[in-house]
Amino acid sequence: MFLPVMPMLAAVIEAPQQLVLKDVPTPDPGPGEVLVEVHASGVCGTDLHILQGEYWGDYPRIPGHEFSGIVAALGDGVTGLRIGDRVAINPNLPCGRCRYCLRGQVNLCTDNTAVGVTRDGGFAEYCAVPAALALPLPETVSLLAGALAEPVSCCLHGMDRARPRVGDTAVILGGGTIGLILMQLALHAGAARVVIVEPLPAKRELALRLGATAALDPVALGEGLGEAVLQACAGAADLVVEAAGRQETAQQALRLVSPGGTVLFFGVCPPDAEVALRPHDVFFHEQTLVGSYINPFTCIRALDLLAAGVVQVEPLISHQLALPQTAEAFALVARGEATKAVVTRI
Ligand SMILES: [Zn+2]
Ligand SMILES: [Zn+2]
Repeated sequence: MFLPVMPMLAAVIEAPQQLVLKDVPTPDPGPGEVLVEVHASGVCGTDLHILQGEYWGDYPRIPGHEFSGIVAALGDGVTGLRIGDRVAINPNLPCGRCRYCLRGQVNLCTDNTAVGVTRDGGFAEYCAVPAALALPLPETVSLLAGALAEPVSCCLHGMDRARPRVGDTAVILGGGTIGLILMQLALHAGAARVVIVEPLPAKRELALRLGATAALDPVALGEGLGEAVLQACAGAADLVVEAAGRQETAQQALRLVSPGGTVLFFGVCPPDAEVALRPHDVFFHEQTLVGSYINPFTCIRALDLLAAGVVQVEPLISHQLALPQTAEAFALVARGEATKAVVTRI
């Protein structure tokens, strides 16, 4: 459809390390697309990777793949959405034709496109997205919470991969947004105990408020961490989740998991990180090691969990900044100060 070209404010990564705030043309939604007036957009580690030039997207790029907003215009042929609808965005659009798509493993698509990664995203006043990626928000989910529907959907896939059983004890290494969402999901899935390992006191306190059985400081415990975790677990760590994206915690996860247990690698480790693995333990103790990547077919369940109040995301939002402060929001996350920083409409 045709709209007069109006400028809008956007945070643009012009090239690695160069995030600038500038006026750009408001996108015109193409056939099958909708224009979304962005309300809230979460800063994720992936955005920092794109800023640092460590990702597969190209430049210039408006980042932002965790956002919510209001449908402002419909492209040709769009049905099922109306102007004014409140929506959360699923950023991932698999090709539908590759071997993995045709096997139902759409998150492994070899030609995936992603809003905020391979096409412009949500750190802007407006964003055009394929209509299938704009998911109507349930009435009881705020636009602010809707911005976190995407990380919840990714964590749900992690749970689908790890398959915790009722009565398991879970250990989560890393108490950031992801660790705290996974913790809530593990509790809801029936975990008897969930132990969080996190160096920052504010995140440990939040974990305890949201239901963690124990929150341990790995720095203070040092060499004694393994023993303290086992004590907090009452003897066995059935599920250990690496949610920090660090080589050290990936190694710890393998050391901590109990016989018969599962390690879920959820954090984004550097590509060259390596850990020592004892095949004997995996064999003899029947340990299961699984990875989890993005959010295949989990968005609707994520919205249902938010609508039902089972997963709480608003307490995870430690900082809200306006769009002109996007660079500051990125810096807060880079310094590890924010649990979740969200950029909201001016
Ligand atoms: Zn993300
Ligand atoms: Zn594909």
